[in-house]
Amino acid sequence: MAEHHVPEDLPSKIQHYIGGELVDSVSGKTFDVLDPVSNQTYVTAAAGQAEDVDRAVAAARRAFTEGPWPGLLPRARARVLNKIADAVEAQDKRLAELETFDTGLPITQALGQAQRAAENFRFFADLVVAQADDTYRVPGRQVNYVHRKPIGVAGLITPWNTPFMLESWKLAPALASGCTVVLKPAEFTPLSASLWAGIFRDAGLPDGVFNLVNGFGEEAGDALVKHPGVPLISFTGETTTGQLIYRNCAASLKGMSMELGGKSPAVVFADADLEAAIDSTLFGVFSLNGERCTAGSRILVERAIYDEFCQRYADRARNIVVGDPHDPATEVGALVHPEHYEKVMGYVELGKSEGRLLAGGGRPSGLDTGNYVAPTVFADVPPTARIFQEEIFGPVVAITPFDSDAEALALANDVKYGLAAYIWTSDLTRGHTFAQSVEAGMVWLNSHNVRDLRTPFGGVKASGLGHEGGYRSLDFYTDQQAIHVSLGPVHTARFGSVQKGQS
Ligand code: NAD
Repeated sequence: MAEHHVPEDLPSKIQHYIGGELVDSVSGKTFDVLDPVSNQTYVTAAAGQAEDVDRAVAAARRAFTEGPWPGLLPRARARVLNKIADAVEAQDKRLAELETFDTGLPITQALGQAQRAAENFRFFADLVVAQADDTYRVPGRQVNYVHRKPIGVAGLITPWNTPFMLESWKLAPALASGCTVVLKPAEFTPLSASLWAGIFRDAGLPDGVFNLVNGFGEEAGDALVKHPGVPLISFTGETTTGQLIYRNCAASLKGMSMELGGKSPAVVFADADLEAAIDSTLFGVFSLNGERCTAGSRILVERAIYDEFCQRYADRARNIVVGDPHDPATEVGALVHPEHYEKVMGYVELGKSEGRLLAGGGRPSGLDTGNYVAPTVFADVPPTARIFQEEIFGPVVAITPFDSDAEALALANDVKYGLAAYIWTSDLTRGHTFAQSVEAGMVWLNSHNVRDLRTPFGGVKASGLGHEGGYRSLDFYTDQQAIHVSLGPVHTARFGSVQKGQS
């Protein structure tokens, strides 16, 4: 096996960033961070508690009420956002190196995610400058217009899969809108997030606009969710965590956006371009180590091509290159953390009694340490199986046959989740009919997962609440105040204008 690559100049510790300063926790508490290839602690990070969140929210509040950021012209904010994008692009290789080291994502894919993070800032810089709001005229009587304003301090809580990119996904629209923010990144993967402070400072973001508190979800995350000075929470993570946060937001009626788990179907009809469908359904579940919310982790295949599909799919899966995440030839790297590895391996073992194992099924040979799982394919998986119903979030796929469009739709919808769906057919009527009926927030028809940043992003059912993406993100971080203005004489019923006793 290739020698384990450890980046040069790793930080000696990871701190919070509050009001423009790098600081330790008030309590001095820290936690250990492991890398997923050696599973050894390589750094300690500040473990934020309620008092650290209080400080971060106070700094963000000050920057919001006293600082220039919310009141800047959109063009001025966009300039800063574009500088952030430039800086992210300029250090994309370093970012990818750190992300790969911390998460176990293959380096080529981590590089793509770093570039996507830059694109998020550019996109929202453009969008906020182009932003127009509605005006409604009542001829001769009134003109009514929408005054859009940033809501305040946004609480951003993010997961460990593609952490830097997912952070950018919330930071860019929040900052573009004029909000100030407190980010609580995932505790498994705080390394790339520690670069934001320098990037933002160099781009000219005023101190206090961006604040970061590291720590565990139940401590730092919970304090942020419950903080009275934070009017909205954007959360990406597991469905069960989302449910808890939803309950905790109720006390102060916070605005919420929830991007949660998935168990997305990829449906392959007999008339599909089989070669393209196989390429896409392999990439759909094995890219990003399968640690992908929109992974097509259930493949439904029409009976007429089922045997051929399973055989060709499994042959390719067995051929996937699993190895050191820093090796550019690697297609599947190491799972993020030993706890997650145990969870995924539990499903791999369970799958052996629920389906027919065609590929993988354990640790790949030659990789005796590190969180490596061989790309694993189960066929003949019934819809009652747990590996059909539950999000595994690793390189594991369940394949199930179907005999009719109606059965395919019933199978696709027969889970609690509804994030994405992928459809492969050469019959456009069937494709559109299926796409419009499937319970999924996002559908790709004869395409793998490529996202147009202008389109809505979000899930239905247990996969989320609300949509982000394009203008919807700006809507989430802003309040649309309606202002009504009279033109000409005001026609108001004149209460109290008639003297009592007169009629
Ligand atoms: P997670 O829910 O365990 O953690 C996500 C974040 O929430 C972390 O920062 C964590 O510290 C924090 N958190 C945990 N408990 C909290 C609490 N009580 N209060 C406040 N914050 C708390 O999720 P994860 O394991 O980090 O990420 C994987 C999950 O994220 C998968 O289910 C995946 O599908 C989902 N995901 C969804 C999308 C999407 O857009 N729909 C995108 C990526 C990941």
